[in-house]
Amino acid sequence: MHELSIMQALVDAVEAIVQEHGAQRVVRLVVEVGEMSNVIPMYLRNAFLAFREVKPFLAQAELEIHFVPLRLQCEACGVEFQPQGYRYRCIECGATRVRVVQGEELLLRNVELEVESGNPGVQPFGSSAVREFSNSGIRG
Ligand SMILES: [Zn+2]
Repeated sequence: MHELSIMQALVDAVEAIVQEHGAQRVVRLVVEVGEMSNVIPMYLRNAFLAFREVKPFLAQAELEIHFVPLRLQCEACGVEFQPQGYRYRCIECGATRVRVVQGEELLLRNVELEVESGNPGVQPFGSSAVREFSNSGIRG
């Protein structure tokens, strides 16, 4: 179950963000899971629940998983398409040289923190807090 080590990497990244911003806890983390990332969302969620037990800053956190379908682009004619099954052949011209546009990613897209600093509330972080986990980075 490599989702456990992936979630470990995500939790480490979230912990760094929590410390960086002097936050007390995480309200929500949003993760994008590509169709071809080899990550099973249910396992990822189970791993998250395990970490939530032992990481106080995650005690009330919600995990939101966004599924990203595989999308390819033909290198011959440039058309973008979603492959049918596992046949990576251009639906327009039949070429087999294609590149992945999306669907391989595993991204920590967003982290919402609760910071108790006199004005309580949720401090959302958008694109500036995005951390990217490439497949190679996480699998090692
Ligand atoms: Zn084509």
